[in-house]
Amino acid sequence: MYFISTRGGEKVTGARAIVQGLAKDGGLFVPESFPTVTKEELEKLAEMNYPERAAFILGKYLADELGEEYLKESCEKAYSSFEGKDPVPLVKINGEMYVLELFHGPTCAFKDMALTLLPYLLKKSCELEGIKEDILILAATSGDTGKAALEGFRDVPGTKVAVFYPDEGVAKMQRLQMGIQDGDNVFVAAVKGNFDDCQRAVKKLFASEEFNQELLKKGLRVSSANSINFGRLAPQIAYYFSAYVDLLTAEQIEIGDSIDFVVPTGNFGDILAGWYAKQMGLPIRKLVCASNRNKVLADFFRDGKYDVKRNFYRTMSPSMDILVSSNLERLLFEISGRDAKQTADRMKALAEHKEYNITTKEKAILDEQFFAGFATEDETVEAMYDVFDEFGYAMDTHTGVGLAVYVKYKQSIETEDKKDKTPIVVLSTANPYKFPQDVLYALSGNDVKDSFKGIKRLNLLTAMKPPKCLLDLRYRPLRFKTVVANDLGKMAAEIMKFADGEIIPVPDKK
Ligand SMILES: *Cc1c(COP(=O)(O)O)cnc(C)c1O
Repeated sequence: MYFISTRGGEKVTGARAIVQGLAKDGGLFVPESFPTVTKEELEKLAEMNYPERAAFILGKYLADELGEEYLKESCEKAYSSFEGKDPVPLVKINGEMYVLELFHGPTCAFKDMALTLLPYLLKKSCELEGIKEDILILAATSGDTGKAALEGFRDVPGTKVAVFYPDEGVAKMQRLQMGIQDGDNVFVAAVKGNFDDCQRAVKKLFASEEFNQELLKKGLRVSSANSINFGRLAPQIAYYFSAYVDLLTAEQIEIGDSIDFVVPTGNFGDILAGWYAKQMGLPIRKLVCASNRNKVLADFFRDGKYDVKRNFYRTMSPSMDILVSSNLERLLFEISGRDAKQTADRMKALAEHKEYNITTKEKAILDEQFFAGFATEDETVEAMYDVFDEFGYAMDTHTGVGLAVYVKYKQSIETEDKKDKTPIVVLSTANPYKFPQDVLYALSGNDVKDSFKGIKRLNLLTAMKPPKCLLDLRYRPLRFKTVVANDLGKMAAEIMKFADGEIIPVPDKK
């Protein structure tokens, strides 16, 4: 299958799209057309285990190049690193409400769903494209992508990973997870700025001829582990299908029935994957886009105007503290009727004037397919508390935002005497133990100063088992302490030093 740029300048194979990450014209790669999944195939999916389901959905886009067998083996290997019997359990909370737990991977956030698999997709794609150079994965992270990319690519031959995160913008556990990272091919630095600064810088470096040439001279080719890479997006489509067929198997729905998904949203990658699933024929009624106090998206869906001229807030759901959601570009491209010029113009307006508008016709498409809302910190805490109090289910702060917006969505479609019975699946994007202090506070009102004390208290409160990978952090010496200015040149210089093999920090003694 071929992939085209949202800005019209390029058409490439799937392998090339994965190797390159971003199109040369600055656009994002999208499939030339959407493959479909039939009812019969849905029934077959229900019989498969998760790795098989994932390989099947990925295969719709990539099997012609990467091969069915290869995809199957890769999915099996990737998801064998997940804890528990089912890598992606669907948990029934009450009535029509379900939670899809996407956090059982090695770094305890949903980014593992794609980043445990991406190294395999990339390896084969490089072979197919005859790439001779090593790959340098460059990632901007709001907290979770960074760690998942580091862990996914750690010591993978022929690759290096460099991660930039906002110095003040990630949670303590996230910072610790990245700071202690081991492996001989990794580099981590904090940037004096927010996530948008990190993402903008990384995208600029991708587009810089000079930067790319300099790395090529060192035998390195840049690629992306952010959801701008189709190889990162594709594995995320699979779990929407998986949740649906789990509901089928549990006889909660009949084939063809529509369901809703609630998605805690930041860079718009996760929810876009859901929209792709819908294009492929999955019966989805509404995709509910949940934002935290940084509610650019909620306003955009309400007004048809994307406007980033506003304050940036730090919240207890840091992985969603984003003002410029990259993947929205893919949706804009689609609702404009695949008008690349229009899409490019809007992205230019965004870069130059910090805003753009969509037409009433486009807005009508969004209204039909999405519900968007946001939750304040208080609303999030209350929603988390209520579900724990009523059903004994503890969730993380990002999922809490999803839940609070779920409540608003329910209110918008129900009245006293008209209840809605459509199943709603809330995507749970992180393990609650990743944000132990905030989760403890939400569930019990208790404040603790120390994350590990938070884990202990949370364990007493919920009786839920803390994941070993987070408990271990306490005893691991810190390795990466670099802080760089929010400056493209300085970031590029750090990357060059890393590319030259100059940065091999030795962990502190502990
Ligand atoms: C990345 C992330 C999100 C947001 O996902 P997007 O694909 O960026 O919209 C939500 N919650 C958690 C825990 C995350 O790590």
